[in-house]
Amino acid sequence: MGETIELWRLVAISTLLLWDIDGTLISGRGAGRRAMNKAFQQLYGVSDAFDLVEDMAGGLDYAFIKAVFAKHQAKAPRIDTFLEAYFQTLEAEVAEGRTELLPGVLDILERGVRERSVFHSLGTGNVEGGARIKLQVFDLNRFFPVGGFSESEAERHLVLQKGVRLAEEYYRVAFAQRDVIVIGDTTRDIDAARRIGARVIAVATGGSSADELYKAEPDLLLRDLRDADAFFSFVQG
Ligand SMILES: [Mg+2]
Repeated sequence: MGETIELWRLVAISTLLLWDIDGTLISGRGAGRRAMNKAFQQLYGVSDAFDLVEDMAGGLDYAFIKAVFAKHQAKAPRIDTFLEAYFQTLEAEVAEGRTELLPGVLDILERGVRERSVFHSLGTGNVEGGARIKLQVFDLNRFFPVGGFSESEAERHLVLQKGVRLAEEYYRVAFAQRDVIVIGDTTRDIDAARRIGARVIAVATGGSSADELYKAEPDLLLRDLRDADAFFSFVQG
């Protein structure tokens, strides 16, 4: 008596959808890069500093910031100071209304919530504050109580792993590796998914072309997320 037992949800198969953000849920149209450039200029007087990062798609915010700080030998680089400025410039960027919710996303997120065996989490290269600002524009934070974010220069697959672990704690569900499905728009998402034994749905709405994604051999390749039936027949098939 008095013993507390943690009840983990008992369903035959529980699937975790681990979502990338940029190019998958939304298109930022360069808002992140512009906001980082503006923040760095405000703090250190250098313009377009982040243009040295050729390809941000599928990368990690911390890795970009470290590379730029190293290049410009920013005085007493304080990542938290930079991030504070970045969140303000990002808020201003997204307020200009140039970001876009990608087609089909809302239907799939809502249907995922209705399915008892499907759960949502994030696996993104954004720092959490930046991710939340981007998602808030389209009221998408309600789908993602937890997620894995860029918190250090740790590689992307570790970010995914954290997105899985926090989802298991939050939903009180244990997900088998093969029942974690990463949804992303770059070959980097596919590589990271493989490293954690997850399956992967690639969508050709962002950083990598359909051809590049095809060559990286995702489990499912979609032009976009408009076909919810195709999406869920793979997820629950
Ligand atoms: Mg992406």
